[in-house]
Amino acid sequence: MAEAAPPRASETGRPALEAKSPFELRVDLAKDIPESDVRAALAAGHMGFLHSFTTGSTVDGPGVRVVAWTTGCMYRCLYCHNPDTWTLSNGIPVSIEQAAAELRKYRHGLRTMSGGFTLSGGEPLMQHRFAVKLLSAAKEMGIHTALDTNGYYGERLTDDELEKIDLVLLDIKSWDPERHRSLTGMDIEPTLAFARRLAERRRPVWLRFVLVPGLTDHPDDIRRIGAFAAGLGNVERADVLPFHQIGRFKWKKLGIAYQLEDVPPPSRESVEQARDSFQAAGLKAY
Ligand code: SF4
Repeated sequence: MAEAAPPRASETGRPALEAKSPFELRVDLAKDIPESDVRAALAAGHMGFLHSFTTGSTVDGPGVRVVAWTTGCMYRCLYCHNPDTWTLSNGIPVSIEQAAAELRKYRHGLRTMSGGFTLSGGEPLMQHRFAVKLLSAAKEMGIHTALDTNGYYGERLTDDELEKIDLVLLDIKSWDPERHRSLTGMDIEPTLAFARRLAERRRPVWLRFVLVPGLTDHPDDIRRIGAFAAGLGNVERADVLPFHQIGRFKWKKLGIAYQLEDVPPPSRESVEQARDSFQAAGLKAY
């Protein structure tokens, strides 16, 4: 049976599921869904809440990728580029069948381009039942799967579910526990525990590290993240992601105090130093 197509903007008066980029501001798209339905969806995963799908990404895993951006996040990173994804009810409610149908449109092209599907956010494991269903559907279509996560809820995934994920893009925000807490609002330890578990299960990982002047550029922190990641044995590469201000307008529109107003992007030299530090630990770094 053919799957129902995702809603189009013209049919619903709401933004279409497919966006040009995750930097489109999206709010309140699920605000009319009753709380009981939200709870049932989170428990069963038959419906998810998505900011959008985007296509053509070359920075969210190997090859050219389709990315689904979930809403809901337990962190409050000071440098977050997409604070509209913090709130679950800002996302478009999408059935698992609709989400899989959206992905199915791209399956031949993704295989041809050695690309795949990446589930990102927000934090996808806020909706872990939906995340597992969608990643499993992608695997069944023969599509390479990646999960971009801060790892805080990694314990929610069973060992069998980890096998549905070809690659974990693991974001480590800072090494120092106090700095991590003041940067994100949450503890670092669950992320490190998830990293160790992925290593025990020999699941491939790419480390993602956002370099923010004055916040995450402490050389000793970077050195220790590199030593930790290299010691795991399953981290295939480290990506240093320079901070930028593209998402600043969202903070203003959402009325959230933004502390990084005057923070510039990191210099080319400091990005190179971070990459050098990861390479010195024995990682491939980009
Ligand atoms: S984990 Fe990602 S989505 Fe969540 S606050 Fe941090 S940067 Fe934003």
